[in-house]
Amino acid sequence: MNQLRLTSIIVTGLILLISIVFSGCMSLLPSADLVLKNGKIITLDGDNKVAQSVAVFEGRILAVGTDSEIAELQDDQTKVIDLDGSFVSPGFIESHGHFLSLGKSLMRLRLNDAKTYDDIVVMVSEAAIKARPGEWILGRGWHQEKWDEVPNPNVDGLPLHDALSRVSPDNPVLLSHASGHAVMANAKAMELAGIDHNTPNPEGGEIVRDAKGDPIGIFRENASDQLFLALEEELSQKSRADEEEDFERMVMLAVNECLSKGVTSFHDAGTPLDTVLRFKEMIDNDEIALRLYIMLSDSNHILEERLGDARMIGYGNDHLTVRSIKRSIDGALGSHGAWLLEPYEDMPTSRGLNTIDIEYLKETARLASEFNFQLCVHAIGDRGNQQALDIYEKAYENSKELDMRWRIEHAQHLSLDDIPRFAELGIIAAMQGVHCTSDGPWVPKRIGDKRAEEGAYVWRKLMESGAMICNGTDTPVEDVDPLANFVSTVTRRMNNGDQFYPSQVMSRTEALRSYTVNAAYAAFEERDKGSITPGMLADIVVLSGDLLTLPEEELGGVKVLYTIIGGEVVYKAGE
Ligand SMILES: [Zn+2]
Repeated sequence: MNQLRLTSIIVTGLILLISIVFSGCMSLLPSADLVLKNGKIITLDGDNKVAQSVAVFEGRILAVGTDSEIAELQDDQTKVIDLDGSFVSPGFIESHGHFLSLGKSLMRLRLNDAKTYDDIVVMVSEAAIKARPGEWILGRGWHQEKWDEVPNPNVDGLPLHDALSRVSPDNPVLLSHASGHAVMANAKAMELAGIDHNTPNPEGGEIVRDAKGDPIGIFRENASDQLFLALEEELSQKSRADEEEDFERMVMLAVNECLSKGVTSFHDAGTPLDTVLRFKEMIDNDEIALRLYIMLSDSNHILEERLGDARMIGYGNDHLTVRSIKRSIDGALGSHGAWLLEPYEDMPTSRGLNTIDIEYLKETARLASEFNFQLCVHAIGDRGNQQALDIYEKAYENSKELDMRWRIEHAQHLSLDDIPRFAELGIIAAMQGVHCTSDGPWVPKRIGDKRAEEGAYVWRKLMESGAMICNGTDTPVEDVDPLANFVSTVTRRMNNGDQFYPSQVMSRTEALRSYTVNAAYAAFEERDKGSITPGMLADIVVLSGDLLTLPEEELGGVKVLYTIIGGEVVYKAGE
C-alpha cells in the first residue's frame, strides 16, 4: 500500500469518526479548506438529503448542512465559494469511455456533423493540402445513417473511395465510423496496407466490395486491422521524443475535455497495461487531475504473466485503479456487427459478427476469477449478451466467495429471456443513454420494430428486475458530455423530435444516480465516490440549472460552472 493511500484512509477514518462522535456539533470539527455555500446540493446519500452548504477538508467531504451550520467550520484560511443558488451534484463518473481515443479524437478530423459524404471529401481535401508528404490523414465519427442523402455511387448505402482518393492521392486517409466498428480508407492507404482485389476477408471482418469484387474502401470489424498495422508502421518511425510529446498531448486533451464537462472519474474501457504504466508516471508527476478506473485490454497470455502485479487500488491519491479486464464479444449495430440471435431485418443474410473466440473469452474469465479481477465484456447484440451472460454464470458458480461485480458493456439489445438474468446473477449493465437517442432512428430498420421495442436499451425493464445500471457515453463514439447524456436518458428524445419507446426512460434521480452512485459501485468505489457524504472524496460538480426540476426543453441549456476533484477547483466556466 502506498503512502498516499494510507494517508487518505486515515483521513477518511478520522473524518468519519469525528462526524459520528460530534454529529450536530460542527464546532468540534477541524476548519474546512473549502466551503461551498448557498447552493442546492443533491447529496444522493442514503437519505437523498438536499443541503445548502458543504465543507471540504484534506480532499474529502467534511460536513454537509445549512449555510449557518457549515459557516461554523470556516476560518480565515478557508476558501469560500458562494454558489448563488446553483445546483450541485456529486462529480460525474463516466462509466464507459475510451480515454486515449478521446485525446486522439481531439487531434483528428471530427466527422460527426458531416451531412453528406461530399462534406467529408471536402474536409479531407483541405487536410491533404496542409499535410506533410505521406502523412496519414485521420478522422472519425462519420455515420452513413446521419447523412441527408445516400452517396452516389454506393454499395449498401456506403460510398466508394474514388472521390477521397482523388482529393488525397499521396496522403493515406483512414476515417473511423462513429461506432468504431468500421473504417473508410482511400487508395493510398489500401496500397500501403497491401489490400487489393485478391485480399480475402479476415476472420471476424469484412472488406466491402463492388460488383466486380474490388474493395470500395470500407472495412468492417477485423478487416480494418491491416490498415491500422500500416498506420502503426508509419507511426513507429516517429522519434521517441515526438511520440512522447504526442502521448502527453493526447492525455492532456482528454483530461481537460472531461474536466470541462463535469467528469471527475473515468472508466477507461480497454487499455494495455504498458500504457497504464505511462498514465501512472504522469499521475506521479501530478499531471492527471481526473481519476481513472482502468479495464485492461491485454491478451490472455500477458494477463497470465502480469495480472499478479498489475492490481492497483486508489493509487496516487485515488487517481488510478486497475482491477478490471475488458473484452469484446461482438461489434456494433450500425455497422451490422452486433451478434444477433436472429438475422438483421435489413440484411437477412447476416446475424452479425462474433469478434472473439469463445474459448479464449472463457480463458479470460478464468484468469479474472483466479486473480479476482472484474471482467467487462462489450456485448451489443442479443446473441452476444446471451453468450456473455452464460460465461459469467459459470464463472460466478465457481467463485461464490468473491464480490465479482462483472459488467456487460452496452447490454444494448437483449432477448426477453435474458433481461432478468442481470439482476439474478448480480451483473452490472454498463449502458449509454445517448446511444439510444443517437441510434434510435435506425435501430428498427436493423432489427425490426418488435425486437426494438422488446429489448433495445431497456433501462426500465432492467431496473425493475433489480439490475444495476451505470451510465456513460462511450466517448469518443459520443461527446463525453454527461449533461447531454442525462437529457437522452430521461427523455429518450431523438434529434428528429420523436421519443424512442419512452416507457423505458429513467427518472431524473435515477439518471443522476446512474452517473454517480451506481457508477461508483460498478468500480467498487461506493465508499469513496458517488455521493456528497462526510468521508467521501470531495468530487463535486456545480451546474447552472436544476437537473431535477427544469422543464425538459431547458435541460439542454444547463452548463458546468465548476468541476471540483478532491476539493480542488479543476475547472471553472469562463476561465
Ligand atoms: Zn466502448
